[in-house]
Amino acid sequence: MKITGIETVQYRIPLPKTLSDSTYTSISSFDLLLVSLHTDAGISGLGYTKSIADAAAIKAMIDRVLAPLLLHQDPLAIDSLWSQMYWRAHSLGRSGVTTLARAACDLALWDLKGKQTGLSLCRLLGGEPKPIMTYAGGIDLYFSTEELVEEMQQFLARGFRAVKMKVGRSDWREDIRRVAAVRKAIGDDVPLLTDANLQWSVAHAIQAGKAMEEYGVYWLEEPTHPDDVAGHRLIADAIRIPLALGESLYSKWEFQRYLEARAVHFPEPDVIHIGGVTEWMKVATLAQAYNRPVTSHGYDEIHVHLLAAVPSPSFVEYHLFRIDDYLCEPLPLVEGCLQAPDRPGHGVVFDLEKLKPLRIA
Ligand SMILES: [Mg+2]
Repeated sequence: MKITGIETVQYRIPLPKTLSDSTYTSISSFDLLLVSLHTDAGISGLGYTKSIADAAAIKAMIDRVLAPLLLHQDPLAIDSLWSQMYWRAHSLGRSGVTTLARAACDLALWDLKGKQTGLSLCRLLGGEPKPIMTYAGGIDLYFSTEELVEEMQQFLARGFRAVKMKVGRSDWREDIRRVAAVRKAIGDDVPLLTDANLQWSVAHAIQAGKAMEEYGVYWLEEPTHPDDVAGHRLIADAIRIPLALGESLYSKWEFQRYLEARAVHFPEPDVIHIGGVTEWMKVATLAQAYNRPVTSHGYDEIHVHLLAAVPSPSFVEYHLFRIDDYLCEPLPLVEGCLQAPDRPGHGVVFDLEKLKPLRIA
């Protein structure tokens, strides 16, 4: 089997409500880039990536750098193709746009392999479809406290059994007041996760983390800058709340540094930021070697497959950059869990008619 064509299409998806975290104060849309890999066997694989920033750069990276490389190659040699894509784009940067572009192609290759073998992605990776506990990830830093509490209560009313809220305000004491209000509203038994999106200093993260302890916070995510491994270790040692991070890491080597330093409790690779299914599974193996339960960031419809293929997974994140309105069969929430569909490939099928008006390139 040979790859005969690669197609990319860019869409801009509006959000129903403006969202905010400590890095992005006003998010009203995100880009969705679909990548279709066609073969001479008549089978196609679908990959995609989402981006808050304009995805035109990712599209160009695929169209002009990766597609010419993939053309006429055997799509089943995924590990080899991953390495070739990595080195072809190396001079343009080891991470960022190059990684997101490689990830979308890698995802399409895995989808293709699933369709060719008749296996769902999780079975292809050695797992089987099973319920993965999810949490609703609020993107709500600049919601009023009343709006925030209402959002959390709505999540629970919809059937979520765990919730996450943003922290990371310039005065961390405001965050603590908001955490206290949410904890009071949702009761003591619901796992409450917090996410600071990188913006605190190490000192403030320690102060805030200590103050959060009495509210039974399940984890504190991305407390400070992602390049500061030693800083994360200081935070991990100073507070009783476990640390989660990884959406801002772009390779297994970056995860290895965190794991080796014992600076993360819940490694949180994002299948697209990390460079695709191929690299995500390597991070999961590393996490297992360091006895850390792997979780996920975004792309729940893909991560339900990946987490079902690793031993003792943690939560799958239910991210609010939803594509459900544009999917033929969005994943249902059942008893607080999401489960991979047992159909060939990743099983994500877009309703292209619905997407059509949102196409920008
Ligand atoms: Mg996060």
